Amino acid sequence: MKVRYSYLPEQFANPEPVFQALRRLVPTGDFTLGQPVRDFEVRFAELIGVKHAIGVGSGTDALKLPLKALGIGPGDEVITAANTFIATVGAIAETGARPVLVDCDDSFCLDVAQVEAAITANTKAIMPVHLTGEVADMPRIMDLAERHGLAVVEDACQGILSEYQGRRSGTWGAAAGFSLHPLKNLNVWGDGGVIVTNDDRMNDRLRLIRNHGLKNRDEIAVLGCNSRLDSVQAVVGNWLIDQTHDITGKRIANAAYYDAAFAGVSELRVPPRRPGIKRVFHLYMVFVEQRDALFAHCLEQGVEAKIHYPIPLYQQEGLRPLGYAPGTFPVTDRHAAEVISFPVDQHITRAQQDIVIETVRDFYRGS
Ligand SMILES: *Cc1c(COP(=O)(O)O)cnc(C)c1O
Repeated sequence: MKVRYSYLPEQFANPEPVFQALRRLVPTGDFTLGQPVRDFEVRFAELIGVKHAIGVGSGTDALKLPLKALGIGPGDEVITAANTFIATVGAIAETGARPVLVDCDDSFCLDVAQVEAAITANTKAIMPVHLTGEVADMPRIMDLAERHGLAVVEDACQGILSEYQGRRSGTWGAAAGFSLHPLKNLNVWGDGGVIVTNDDRMNDRLRLIRNHGLKNRDEIAVLGCNSRLDSVQAVVGNWLIDQTHDITGKRIANAAYYDAAFAGVSELRVPPRRPGIKRVFHLYMVFVEQRDALFAHCLEQGVEAKIHYPIPLYQQEGLRPLGYAPGTFPVTDRHAAEVISFPVDQHITRAQQDIVIETVRDFYRGS
């Protein structure tokens, strides 16, 4: 492989500082909701610029628990994006509420006009997804939610440090969920997630819910679950969190380099770069002609591209109970046929990016 997609071996090439911190942790026995978790929560809240951060077991739980804290469950509907990763829809479904899907536009985010049309008497919340590190049109979504009395919980799992007109993702709604999964921009050595909120009551409820509803050792205040961020993962997070701005900056610079080079390739279309948005390029995803052939060509040439995602969620066997007929979401369908993602991480070199660019140019020259 000339250009790899996964940069994890490089990112964790020198794990010694983490091992040392783990060596300090083990004798303390402080393994659940311990000091490393409390430290990480304080630092994460500072990073995003919110009052509270609550460490949970995964990004999926970071979406599900706020819905539960809002009292959302069976009989309710939550609107989200048809083109998202399965975890968003799964988190909604796990509460017992019905996930209502809405098509996206070429920003990869919710088409807000269609959100309004999807609101019914049962709608309780909107879950916009900042897919690829793009940012949903939050001012319009918040306005819509206020007019209809709906809660907003952002899926910011791909959008850490992204901004819309200077305001950070995760700071708009009642709460937002972030993922610390190894494939996310701020990543640990397994599963982990963080919920952020500025609402004190929401914070109190979430802290109860993630820990069996336990008020103290003996008293249970609400029915909760077990979804705590592991102390071990918090140790990894505490080591990495200071690098988040740097990681983001490198991804943005790498994406700008691709954008400039690809401007000259007529068969490749870079998504609209809407002004006033700081996109953080969890993925560098573009639209291309002859996608499947280009994808095969890249792999043959040792350039590890990816497709996010080749089969639209609503057409998956597991989501058939939602009852959406093929063709319901034309933009999502078109994306599934046209998108390709190239590595844009903080460790890719300019020389590797040049190989990616040349491989794409080569393909269209030859075709
Ligand atoms: C990764 C991801 C999640 C879920 O995160 P996990 O930590 O894997 O549970 C949710 N939504 C989106 C858009 C994601 O990319």
